[in-house]
Amino acid sequence: MQKIDIYRPSTWKEYQNTLCNGCWGGCCTMPVEIKISDLLSLGLATEAEAVGSISKLAKRLFKEGFIQSYQKGTEFFILAQKENQDCRFLNSTTRLCTVYEQRPDTCRQFPSIGPRPGFCPAGIK
Ligand code: SF4
Repeated sequence: MQKIDIYRPSTWKEYQNTLCNGCWGGCCTMPVEIKISDLLSLGLATEAEAVGSISKLAKRLFKEGFIQSYQKGTEFFILAQKENQDCRFLNSTTRLCTVYEQRPDTCRQFPSIGPRPGFCPAGIK
C-alpha cells in the first residue's frame, strides 16, 4: 500500500467523515489561508482594525505570533505554524483544534477545498 505523504496529495485517501475519528490531524499541519472575517471570528482583530490599515494589522499579528505571512493585495494571511509545522491552534497532545467553534473558513471547508478536493492525509501517523 502506498505511504501517505502530506506533501503528495496523490497519496491521500478519499475522504469519509469516519477518518477524522482518532486522526493525528495531518490537515492541521499544512499552511492555512485566512481572511479578515476569520480574524474577527477568532477575536484576533477588532472591527476598527478590519476597516483600517491591513498592513498595520498584519504587522501586529506577525509580531504576536498569530500569522506567518500576509500577501499584500490578496488580503490573505497565513496562520502561524509551530516549528514542527502544527498549526499554532492545534493541541499537540490531543491533536484537537483549540479554537474549533471559531476555526477559519478554510478549516471548515477542508477537504472540499484544498490541494486535492475530496481527499485528505488521514493515516499519516
Ligand atoms: S485553526 Fe484549528 S482546524 Fe484550523 S488548522 Fe488550526 S488547529 Fe486545525
